[in-house]
Amino acid sequence: MALIELRGVSRRYTLGDIEVRALDGITLAIEAGEYVAIMGQSGSGKSTLMNVLGCLDNPTEGQFLIDGHDAGQLGPDELAALRRERFGFIFQRYHLLPHLDARGNAALPAVYAGVGSAARSARAQALLERLGLGERLHHKPNELSGGQQQRVSIARALMNGGQIILADEPTGALDSTSGAEMLALLEELNAAGHTIILVTHDPTVAAHASRVIELRDGRVVKDEGTPSGHPVLALPSAPEAPAVQKGGGLRRLQVQWREALATAWLSLQGNRLRTFLSMLGISIGIASVVSIVALTGAARSTFEGEFRSTMSGKIWIWRGNSKLPPGAQPPSFRLIELDALRQLPGVASVQGERQIPALLRHRTRDANLNVRGADAGTLIERKLKLEAGRFFSAYELADGAQVLVLDEQSRQALFKDTESPIGKTVLLSSSAVGDGGGAEGRPGATAAPSGASLPFVVIGTVKADSQLGFNFGNGNAYVPERTFIQRLDSRPAVDAFSVQMDFTLPPEEVLRHLTHRLVALRGAENFSNWSGDSEFRKMQDFTAGFAALFAGVGAIALLVGGVGVMNIMLVSVSERTREIGIRMAVGARQGDVRLQFLIEAVVLCCLGGLVGVAFSWLGAQALNAVQDKLLVSVSWAALGVAFAVSSGVGLVFGTVPARRAAALSPVDALARE
Ligand code: ADP
Ligand code: MG
Repeated sequence: MALIELRGVSRRYTLGDIEVRALDGITLAIEAGEYVAIMGQSGSGKSTLMNVLGCLDNPTEGQFLIDGHDAGQLGPDELAALRRERFGFIFQRYHLLPHLDARGNAALPAVYAGVGSAARSARAQALLERLGLGERLHHKPNELSGGQQQRVSIARALMNGGQIILADEPTGALDSTSGAEMLALLEELNAAGHTIILVTHDPTVAAHASRVIELRDGRVVKDEGTPSGHPVLALPSAPEAPAVQKGGGLRRLQVQWREALATAWLSLQGNRLRTFLSMLGISIGIASVVSIVALTGAARSTFEGEFRSTMSGKIWIWRGNSKLPPGAQPPSFRLIELDALRQLPGVASVQGERQIPALLRHRTRDANLNVRGADAGTLIERKLKLEAGRFFSAYELADGAQVLVLDEQSRQALFKDTESPIGKTVLLSSSAVGDGGGAEGRPGATAAPSGASLPFVVIGTVKADSQLGFNFGNGNAYVPERTFIQRLDSRPAVDAFSVQMDFTLPPEEVLRHLTHRLVALRGAENFSNWSGDSEFRKMQDFTAGFAALFAGVGAIALLVGGVGVMNIMLVSVSERTREIGIRMAVGARQGDVRLQFLIEAVVLCCLGGLVGVAFSWLGAQALNAVQDKLLVSVSWAALGVAFAVSSGVGLVFGTVPARRAAALSPVDALARE
């Protein structure tokens, strides 16, 4: 059985309306161990025949058999395996990969055979040394002469065994000395058992072969030197084959991945500016998503935390509401009403808001503020902390002493920052008292006559124990509850009160009970309420919406970065078409090519993602260092997700270029300059 057999093989190209018959019904057989020269003028179909023989191209008609198997029945991966394991190509223009050194180029076919890197290098080195290139292992193709480059390509052809050497005009680009060396080498290889198929238009070159096939217009016109006349060797390709011919599935996968990563790294390094710019796109995208999510997250949790700690479980109720006719003055809440509410389930405490507007004077300065009655629990109740001085003693609370505690705002108004208010006496005139007792009259306000001022001693200052400090309107001054009732406002009623829930019932239910009971007591719904929890929920929905919106804006930046990567990868594929062709000629499968470009895109995006993640982390640290209102934390989980997302972007946007690269046909890719 012939090693290679062609039966009526034709290869036609259609260019518009014109049909070119590059091969026209070729039938021939080549035995193992032959040295065949294919001769013919330029355009006679030699290269086309060579490509068909080397499984780089498919015939349009006819059968191509190798070892009796029909190559037409084989899939792309099986054809790649044939190229990898049986054939060794030598091209006129060498077709070495420019970014790999001599050893790397020679070793390339073994990569796709799954040979480990140490074994690969050792064999490539041995081959190159035998070909006289021991001193040139680490030279790139552009640092080698034509003859040397052609010897590297011979080493590459022999790497996986090279049972059948296909050489297309191997001496065409060489000077006569190098050409002669080349021919001597081919003869040596033939003597060692390799089948040689040499394409040439030069009769003196063809004379080295034992059989000459001449083509004209795609047809065999002469076939001299018969296979039977040639001593056909039993093929000892074993000594030439690499020690580790085929790695196992896992080993091959490992070699494949390592090569793809190394190639990706080399190619990214080879185009630094381009790599940097596409990385930048991804970095900006990732950094914007991470920062926006972290920032909005921090703002939300700070704001919501404050809000919740201040407002949770609280309901404020005050008299009057928008449904009442204008000018209506609903009655204040009587203390017995508050007592009734205290009995309701879910209610922990009810605090009457005892407060009146007043004018406070110190020397020439005065301030409008609200005076509130306070007891021992007020600091906790109103989330205040003592800033200077002290709070009311038990004695002062019990005795109705004329002492007073100022909050931040009223302290500022009266004392500025220059003077300590502690121990100073201020004059308090209640405007409510001063205007003649107000609309409802204040029968109990006996202590302070109209327009009179009462002296109070400032014993302390407080400030809000929260970063959000809800400061509506005027500042506050606190006096002991008893003092408040005795001296300022003795009505057994309040205009507003707050309810603290005990969380045994849902807030809505407590509010429903409260409203129901109050309406029953007062005969009408002539009050309003504000519930911390329902406000909190409304606010949460609102901020969640905003956070999502912002994250969406960040994601658009990431999308733009991804499109940039896809664009660059497509450019890269078309720039490196010849490289893809070379890799396929030495036996890369479509999957190998796809993996290579996909990994390149993913590596690019991962690097970009890492930089983006690093920037957003540094940004968060910097922000935390310069301010303390907002604690921006970028969690490891967020960084991990960002990194995964950028890899995902690489995967998604690398797919199209990778598929395009893998779908290239080997001949077309090789022909591209
Ligand atoms: P040789 O190698 O002997 O110079 P080729 O095999 O390269 O000849 O080409 C044989 C014929 O096929 C020529 O006429 C050439 O123009 C044509 N040909 C080769 N490749 C293509 C192609 N990809 N598309 C169209 N025509 C082609
Ligand atoms: Mg040619």
